[in-house]
Amino acid sequence: MLNFEQAERIKNLPPYLFARIEKLIAEKKEQGVDVISLGIGDPDLPTPGHIIEELKKEAENPANHQYPSSVGMLSYRQAVADFYQKRFGVELDAKSEVVALIGSKEGIAHISWCYLNPGDVVLVPDPGYPVYAGGAILAGAEPYAVKLKEENGFKPNYADIPSEVARKAKMMFINYPNNPTGATADVKFFEETVAFAKEYNILVCHDNAYSEIAFDGYRPPSFLEARGAKEVGIEFGSVSKPYNMTGWRIGWAAGHPEVVEALGRLKSNLDSGQFQAVQYAAIKGLTGPQDALKKNVAIYDERRKVVVEGLNALGWNVQAPKATFYVWAPVPKGYTSASFAEYVIEKTGVVITPGNGYGESGEGYFRISLTIPKERLEEAFRRMKESLGKLEF
Ligand SMILES: *Cc1c(COP(=O)(O)O)cnc(C)c1O
Repeated sequence: MLNFEQAERIKNLPPYLFARIEKLIAEKKEQGVDVISLGIGDPDLPTPGHIIEELKKEAENPANHQYPSSVGMLSYRQAVADFYQKRFGVELDAKSEVVALIGSKEGIAHISWCYLNPGDVVLVPDPGYPVYAGGAILAGAEPYAVKLKEENGFKPNYADIPSEVARKAKMMFINYPNNPTGATADVKFFEETVAFAKEYNILVCHDNAYSEIAFDGYRPPSFLEARGAKEVGIEFGSVSKPYNMTGWRIGWAAGHPEVVEALGRLKSNLDSGQFQAVQYAAIKGLTGPQDALKKNVAIYDERRKVVVEGLNALGWNVQAPKATFYVWAPVPKGYTSASFAEYVIEKTGVVITPGNGYGESGEGYFRISLTIPKERLEEAFRRMKESLGKLEF
């Protein structure tokens, strides 16, 4: 067999951190344990019926069977622009300021190819969604971890970023409501971000995947609501989380027209866009009735209570997150993220995600996802109460 040397960009991708946990899960399952995973951030509820009906109808239309445009149908981009107008009061030109993506993850990974040369610096949140650093590494660039600290509401403190790093940085990622911490940001924070970006000439990429998953009447803003935002950046969005469409693969990037154009040009050389029937279905999601979304959020809200009350009954002192379907909590005294996750699986068959999987600054934390039925969450906490013993904080 020939031995093929992998490209540096692949060799430099970080190793898969959850390998040891996966092994423990497999062992438990072999022993016949009913494993409960609180680890997966993927909606368990079904896509609303009217969206599925639209897909079925449009799948029957032969006009949709050919290659779509790689930047998305104008009607899809217009639906995104209308959504921004209605939801955030933000004006977007559908033709030049919106591009369709095959899920926002696709654009998040590819934006690095558009703006980063080998050796360029990009600021990535730590902890953070792994794709920000992954896409940058694939472009040969160097991610610089911006620590998100609890005492700062898990938001970057721009004054803490050394000015020589800020001067070298070409691009930055931010994400509020935040995965994995559940932290939120207001327009004032986005305006500070615009000021920082203008001072150092940095392209801002805001990931707003969780804008519609929020509780207690809270409505997360768009980065594009901040004054001057469109001059310094773009926002990624997606129908994945609000309409339970993670498997459908459709999202968007919106904002700075030159950046939108660059992403579209890259895509025209890489992919041929998303199946038009899926685009029609996403239009239905964005412009159709929103009662299914409201019901979903109410279900996450109930689950959020089970998790927060469950943790606090075991000795934690966690606040309920205002948005996202994640609860982020510190590990008890004497544990690391990994050793606590292993202890919990070992004793209870319950899987939690070790925080260091999202970056070094995630060490000392774990994440619980609300994407499993309430009864299963209750069962997980019943087991933890029975078997974890006394925990110290
Ligand atoms: C789920 C998620 C996304 C959305 O990904 P899609 O590719 O649109 O399905 C983007 N960013 C973060 C932080 C996420 O958690």
